[in-house]
Amino acid sequence: MFFWMELIFTLIIAVVFGCATQSIVSNKGYDENWFWWGFFFGVIAVIVALTKPERTRFTQSPEASAPYYENKILKNNGWVCAKCQKTNPHYTGTCSCGNTKGENEQILQQKEKKEIEAEKTQRTSGLRHYHAGRI
Ligand SMILES: [Zn+2]
Repeated sequence: MFFWMELIFTLIIAVVFGCATQSIVSNKGYDENWFWWGFFFGVIAVIVALTKPERTRFTQSPEASAPYYENKILKNNGWVCAKCQKTNPHYTGTCSCGNTKGENEQILQQKEKKEIEAEKTQRTSGLRHYHAGRI
């Protein structure tokens, strides 16, 4: 009887330490699971958790998220670099990779031309297949 009491008591303490360690770690801004550390190591885990440096969690507001930011730039006549895919605001003449706005437009035009040509060759080859099929 005494043995079971002791075991249950130990388990309760372990769970309490597990929860305490977990809450300390998550309060410090970590997304890690520390419950079992606290469960098995008790006070030691709590001390380790307390000595962990606080992590500043960035609040993810919709304005701060990248896609929203990029859309906003593009709406304001921004441009996407054809070399590194970076979105640049309209007042930026040169991308951080060295590609200028003028060069970028040329690249885009060439790309478009290539795409049209690729489509053409695809169509003609398709036609050829069609003829070949008929013969
Ligand atoms: Zn670039």
